[in-house]
Amino acid sequence: MAAIPDSTVGTNTAVSGLESTFADELGALTVPWQGAHAPNPTLLVLNEQLAASLRLNVDALRREDGVGVLSGSTAPAGATPVAMAYAGHQFGGYAPLLGDGRALLLGELVNSDGQRVDLHLKGSGRTPFSRGGDGFAVVGPMLREYLVSEAMYALGIPTTRALSVVATGQSVRRYGTEPGAVLARVAASHLRVGTFEYAVRQGEVLQPLADYAIARHYPKLTELPTTGDSNRYLTFFEAVVEAQASLVAHWMRIGFVHGVMNTDNTTISGQTIDYGPCAFLDAFDPAAVFSSIDHSGRYAFGNQPAVLKWNLARFAETLLTLIDSTPDDAITAVSAVLDTFDERYAGHYAAGMAAKLGVAGEPLDRALVDDLLTLMEEHGADWTGTFRALADELRGNSMPLDGLVPRERIGPWLERWRGVLTKQGRGAAETADVMDCVNPLYIPRNHQLDAALRAATDGELAPFEKLLEVVTHPFAPRDEWADYITPAPASFNKTFQTFCGT
Ligand code: AMP
Ligand code: MG
Repeated sequence: MAAIPDSTVGTNTAVSGLESTFADELGALTVPWQGAHAPNPTLLVLNEQLAASLRLNVDALRREDGVGVLSGSTAPAGATPVAMAYAGHQFGGYAPLLGDGRALLLGELVNSDGQRVDLHLKGSGRTPFSRGGDGFAVVGPMLREYLVSEAMYALGIPTTRALSVVATGQSVRRYGTEPGAVLARVAASHLRVGTFEYAVRQGEVLQPLADYAIARHYPKLTELPTTGDSNRYLTFFEAVVEAQASLVAHWMRIGFVHGVMNTDNTTISGQTIDYGPCAFLDAFDPAAVFSSIDHSGRYAFGNQPAVLKWNLARFAETLLTLIDSTPDDAITAVSAVLDTFDERYAGHYAAGMAAKLGVAGEPLDRALVDDLLTLMEEHGADWTGTFRALADELRGNSMPLDGLVPRERIGPWLERWRGVLTKQGRGAAETADVMDCVNPLYIPRNHQLDAALRAATDGELAPFEKLLEVVTHPFAPRDEWADYITPAPASFNKTFQTFCGT
């Protein structure tokens, strides 16, 4: 490991009031560190609404001092930024030491809802965990994380959020030379399954880590005893299983492919984290993979629930000694909880799909969903477009659906669906309106995002700003946004790929 700088405590007052409970209580999992100097930092985008909810001064953030903090060049007053240690299973193989190779935890803030959140930088230079990496990030991928995470937030999906992207003024080597950038992100925390995988091999820090995670994310469980049948740590495991089962059901209802579901990218809070090679589906295809390195389709759209369960099994392994001192009993206990994953996931997914189809109040016939998905897959129907077209169908406008699945194929299914809706007694127009509140019209379409990021890399931010405005208002149609509805042309999708660690 590289030497720790003498003093990293900052004096820059643009951001004040940062706390450091994680670093204070779990020093064994952190290394105090400083961001790299940014030669010419320029603020590309600032999330003013998020900044205000963090009680940060927007004007101060826009000034030189503020941009200094958001670029990682200067540490905020009184704060000690740290790089966090973690391990992780990457594509199924165990890496004992990953850690923040290009990121820094600046500290924690309590937002206007009273929740403690992390303020974290990505792309702020090398750390002791950088291994072979350069510690940097570039404009396109950081703006990509900014836009996709904010779109997910607008869609009502638990996620980390984006506060800003600053261009550093430095060139970074990637596929050619690209402009460097730093993303500031806000998360419920940066505790991951990988944090526990690291801690369990360090020994003593495991229990303090579990207690910290429980106090921060599942505070009611602190009242439970540390031993016995329904002890604190087993119940904690169950709470994370539940939060993650709910999260992946959200991804599956919205058509989101995370792309790199390694255990270091699986949070304890239940938020989506690390928007690298992610993408939204166009044509529904369970085998859809966009990541350039996912050759086996491990993280394909349809595999996401199964992979998540696998990641939760790795999490369970880290908690065994806390759950029961008799190994066999600990394994029996976590296995029983892990076995509930399928049912929990199925419940969340069914509720999500019922809402998409305007079915309320009665258990959804799973075959109704499965048969629709079979038709969509057969005809390559656009995931997002199909559910809006179904609402239009209820309003008497058949044109959108006719463009997606031939009427003679979907006709019998439509009759079954209308039968269910009639039984529930809500009017067709009202059902259509309710559906439009959960089925987005605007998502980050891969071709449009790609074009906006290319333009931004060349210094032209307007297309990015426009797309950001559109995808953060996903539900209500606007005439002037008609261009943002259409899926990418087939020729684009054939070659479209996303990249890790860019
Ligand atoms: P990710 O794929 O973003 O979840 O990153 C996996 C691991 O690779 C983490 O430990 C990152 O900090 C590290 N990493 C990714 N890109 C870089 C980079 N350019 N320099 C140093 N570390 C990196
Ligand atoms: Mg990661």
